[in-house]
Amino acid sequence: MSSSDPSLPPVASLFPPHADRVRWDDYLTRELLCANERIASGSVVPTIDMPAFRAELAALDFEAPRPLDELLPWTIRQLERGVVHMTNPRYFGLFNPAPSFPSLCGDRVASVFNPQLATATTSPAAVEIDAHVIRAVARRAGLPPESNGHFTTGGSEANYTAVLCALTRTNDRFATEGARSFSGQPVFYISRESHLAWVKIGHQSGIGRSAVRQVPTDGTGRMDADALERMLDEDRGHGREPFLIVATAGTTNAGMIDPLDRCADLAQARGLWLHVDAAWGGAAVASDRLRGVLAGIGRADSVTIDAHKWLATTMGCGMFLTRDPGILSKTFQVSTGFMPSNSATVDPYVTTAQWSRRFLGVRLFLSLAAAGWAGYAQHVERSVDLIADLRALLDERGWHIANDSSLAVLCVEPPPGAPDARTIANRVLASGRAWIAVARYEGRDVIRICLTHGEAALDDIRELVDALTMSCSPVSDEIHAVGA
Ligand SMILES: *Cc1c(COP(=O)(O)O)cnc(C)c1O
Repeated sequence: MSSSDPSLPPVASLFPPHADRVRWDDYLTRELLCANERIASGSVVPTIDMPAFRAELAALDFEAPRPLDELLPWTIRQLERGVVHMTNPRYFGLFNPAPSFPSLCGDRVASVFNPQLATATTSPAAVEIDAHVIRAVARRAGLPPESNGHFTTGGSEANYTAVLCALTRTNDRFATEGARSFSGQPVFYISRESHLAWVKIGHQSGIGRSAVRQVPTDGTGRMDADALERMLDEDRGHGREPFLIVATAGTTNAGMIDPLDRCADLAQARGLWLHVDAAWGGAAVASDRLRGVLAGIGRADSVTIDAHKWLATTMGCGMFLTRDPGILSKTFQVSTGFMPSNSATVDPYVTTAQWSRRFLGVRLFLSLAAAGWAGYAQHVERSVDLIADLRALLDERGWHIANDSSLAVLCVEPPPGAPDARTIANRVLASGRAWIAVARYEGRDVIRICLTHGEAALDDIRELVDALTMSCSPVSDEIHAVGA
């Protein structure tokens, strides 16, 4: 009857002996470094033959075990050909970073110990390291010393947390009764240029997508604070219940910063929660030269900063910071008998949206400790400086610079007579020489170029300019035919 004979050896394919682990670890270390170097000089975009790949994948049907000696090289090869490479220095993309080396080390450490951070009793050192980093970032962002927060899977979870905290503070009955505890519909405000994850968050939090009020922008991608004020009054007049203003500090498309002080004044005067979504732009707090562009961020009730964007950790590593040290335990509190402790102020499982929790912060801890704020200051400043170089090069060649961001993102429109932004972007992508995006900025299609790669250099900028210039020739017959 007994199914668990204690003399049974472990399953060797899952838990191999020491010598095999050393061999595979060494192989991975060396091979991944080589792959990274090949990627840096190769195509930014996928080159994989998907039908052939799908056939190979289908053959891996999990019936017969296969040796890791085969599987590891196979997996690395597929990723090398089968993803857009954020680690290529000509990926001018959506903030996704080439991870810093200390953050790669941190990922490895977290994986090997695999600590459970649900409670401080289980992982006291790890919980303390996370909290230490969060406090340091909050102080650096200008929040008061008693501020706290936690690591999240990303900006979306941090922003979702902000909505739940704001609802919980606004209405004592929200925790028990939900949205119907409000006499009118609870509504919150984002600008039209905000990240669209806010719309999903309206849905997720149960107040509905229509609760997400989109405020017009001022023609330069910033929230129009006068329009916000009018909308607040109108909504109140219609019986709705405003509870939160979200200011974006570094819009996703164009790196624009909403008027933080005006938003803070309005929030203060009306007793609303102010959240600053600085998911990627927040990295600028590292730099004494740049942090002034975020003036007012320290007045927020809460702030989102993603370390997995411009702070160059591996994904996902978001942060939620709040000046109200009690709100998180009020929002996420539960009592359980089976958990090893229940410290309402410290244990992440009762102060965050997650339960089981990975050691997320060790990657930013190692990076920040190794580089110091000064190292991170250099990292963000060199991105901004390279974008300024790019701006000058494109300006000289007749491109129209559409945005005026203090951060490392440029939105440009092709010179007169050139094909439209989408055609040019598609040609650049097809060349594999660089990755850029088409974005909507103030109602127009623009080419969006963002630089967060810590090893990008002037040569990479020149190659991008060359690829853009080559893509400006008149639309060919072939492309006409495709478009017809
Ligand atoms: C990236 C981004 C988000 C979403 O964050 P994730 O980490 O992708 O979940 C939200 N807001 C802004 C401004 C962003 O740039």
